[in-house]
Amino acid sequence: MLLTISTTHHPASDLGYLLVKHPDRCQTFDLAFGKAHVFYPECGDERCTAALLLDLDPVGLVRGRKAPGAATLGQYVNDRPYVASSFLAVAISQVLGSAMGGRCKGRPELAEQAIPLDVVVEPVPARGGEVLIRRLFEPLGYEVDVTRHALDAAFPSWGESPYYRVELKGQQRMRDLLTHLYVLVPVLDHEKHYWVDEAELAKLLAKGESWLQGHPERELIARRYLYRQPRLARQAMAQLVEEDGVDPDEKTEAGARREDVLEERIRLDDQRRGAVLAVLKEAGARRVIDLGCGEGKLLRALLDDKQFEHVVGMDVSPRVLEMAAKRLRVEQMPPRKRERLQLLHGSLTYRDERLAGFDAACLVEVIEHLDVSRLQALERVVFEFARPATVIVTTPNSEYNALFETLPAGSFRHADHRFEWTRDELQRWAQAVADKHGYQARFLPVGPAHPELGTPTQMAVFVR
Ligand code: SAH
Repeated sequence: MLLTISTTHHPASDLGYLLVKHPDRCQTFDLAFGKAHVFYPECGDERCTAALLLDLDPVGLVRGRKAPGAATLGQYVNDRPYVASSFLAVAISQVLGSAMGGRCKGRPELAEQAIPLDVVVEPVPARGGEVLIRRLFEPLGYEVDVTRHALDAAFPSWGESPYYRVELKGQQRMRDLLTHLYVLVPVLDHEKHYWVDEAELAKLLAKGESWLQGHPERELIARRYLYRQPRLARQAMAQLVEEDGVDPDEKTEAGARREDVLEERIRLDDQRRGAVLAVLKEAGARRVIDLGCGEGKLLRALLDDKQFEHVVGMDVSPRVLEMAAKRLRVEQMPPRKRERLQLLHGSLTYRDERLAGFDAACLVEVIEHLDVSRLQALERVVFEFARPATVIVTTPNSEYNALFETLPAGSFRHADHRFEWTRDELQRWAQAVADKHGYQARFLPVGPAHPELGTPTQMAVFVR
């Protein structure tokens, strides 16, 4: 199996420092279950790629292990030597351990920096398929590209295999990328090569650090990682949710019941939040205001990431703000976290000095709740008076509505929507706003793309 990590950070050859592996050398490492080779298929100033190739010894994997019952053919003939599994995780920790720990003597500042990364892992066995791959990686800020392999390319009628090529693109610190792979590749595979014990639990919590706590799928991740050990999974959840004080048993059990249903459904909401977080991270925003914050899911994700030093939620509805405070468990929040958060009651259509002084403002699924005639007021409040360096606006793409079978033609997705725009309509509005107020606008798709109709959500990013 092959893992490649490419960057276009300048100079790209600094990848060698980050991974603590010299780009001019091809190195081989002996592991308990085979060999790991590290080499650089390309290394220039513009782009550099490092490859980790695992060459597992299928016989060695079986030798010395006490098989339950008689030896079976399955012990020798299986996919384990060829797929990205927990062996890859072990190889990453043994061969790229310094990089995963964020240790980089040559370029210490670079190890702390999020740089553009393009990562390919293949083949990945994924129980839960493309939907699960996306649900695990998109909330972490990756753009995910998934290709499913046929069982046998020579015999298409045999159908699809459970193996995927997974490509992840995003702005990440190297240590974060490696810990994401370390935890999530075995979660996708859902098959452990050794018995899970307390040490595994410690590893999960250590490697998952803060991102796991804020991950919308943390229950599924903990449960699958600690496969067949519900007690440990519960313990992990207890530690992960300590801060927000949710009863771990309740969450794990509810999570288990929901898992099957969830795995079938693409959660646009999470993808949207993942996309917003990725843009905020890329922009290096520290002070963020969520305008029309609703019940505060984005606020929660922001608070879980220490990059965001000051997080403010604003909404016109006092009832919604009360719910946000309750769901975020503001009362029980540790003081250091509590200090970073502020909830404001206000309207986007009235000039408000409290909205000034932020690095970024988010309007996630908000503009369509205002009458078109009030948009101009919103424009002035946000772009003329508040004037954050970055503004992120998401709204439904009405072209995509044709794909919702239960939605009658011409109606909106939500009863309270005053309008829904095509991609062209959003782009025309956003471009005009940007021109008028001295911003640059760019547009990003969010969610699964249809070749003609685009994605369910559209995003405009304004940068001053
Ligand atoms: N951003 C949240 C909520 C979207 S729903 C999310 O993505 O989940 C739209 C929210 O905008 C509601 O909470 C609504 O109360 C709020 N809203 C509507 N008009 C507003 C206005 N004029 N000023 C501030 N918030 C407003």
